Amino acid sequence: MNIFAKGWSHGFDGPGRRFVYYLKGCNFHCLWCGNPESIAAEPEMMFYPDKSRFASQSCAHEAVKGAELDRATCRTCGDRACIDRWRDPAFELAGCDIPTAEIIAETEQRRALFGDDGGVTFSGGEPTLQMDALLKAAKILRQRGIHVAVETNASSPRFSELPGNFDLLICDLKCVTPELHRRIAGTDNSQVLANLASGTKMTLRVPLIAELNFIAEEREKIYDMLMVIKPETVEFLRLHQLGLPKYRALGQVCQAERFNPPTREQAETFCQRLRNGGIAAQVLN
Ligand code: SF4
Repeated sequence: MNIFAKGWSHGFDGPGRRFVYYLKGCNFHCLWCGNPESIAAEPEMMFYPDKSRFASQSCAHEAVKGAELDRATCRTCGDRACIDRWRDPAFELAGCDIPTAEIIAETEQRRALFGDDGGVTFSGGEPTLQMDALLKAAKILRQRGIHVAVETNASSPRFSELPGNFDLLICDLKCVTPELHRRIAGTDNSQVLANLASGTKMTLRVPLIAELNFIAEEREKIYDMLMVIKPETVEFLRLHQLGLPKYRALGQVCQAERFNPPTREQAETFCQRLRNGGIAAQVLN
């Protein structure tokens, strides 16, 4: 499996204490993505010049020019001595392959830490882009009695294979209007809407961005859709800017700097309308 990160999470990526594998590669390019290093499938060097005074000395290939990194040089670098030899904190490589057998072995070692209701979550990126490896890992883990969740943008044409292979599906809904979806996520959403309306049991997660999907017209479309598909649970996540340092580390500009979250009060008011309609909804942040 191609991953860009892994780590513990509590109460956010499924029930209980969970170990999360973040799979690299995504078919969406959401303007506000909090994990920009998740999008490209290939490994990417993240550069944090403030974390080390010796960054230029850790590279023998003259890729470091002050606070800038020549990423073309890094892409073809034969030694990656900055990380492998010097372990310089200014450099972080996002992306590595981890065999399924290693995931199973790691999980067995951590099993006692999951408690009664925790487990493993596969997130991303978009994990279903690695569907065969994803299903294989989930099957083995569940055979061993481990609770397995997946977080997906729900765009996969193989979506119907997920419910029987995972204990929990956490699906995203970015917006309903197709043109808006193309503008904010870079792709068509017809497959997403069909998958979400398929009657599958799921937790639905909706990011809230004041200027994009929380304008009155789109908000009402989201409300109408949720009242029709009636997901088991709906979680709202107000836009945050926690990913900004990662954009800088990748040498990219974050489009989300132009946008704002709705206020907590506005989000709660919307959430309450869904609760009044019989949907278990909550604002997560
Ligand atoms: S990956 Fe190679 S070229 Fe890039 S900073 Fe590290 S040592 Fe230098």
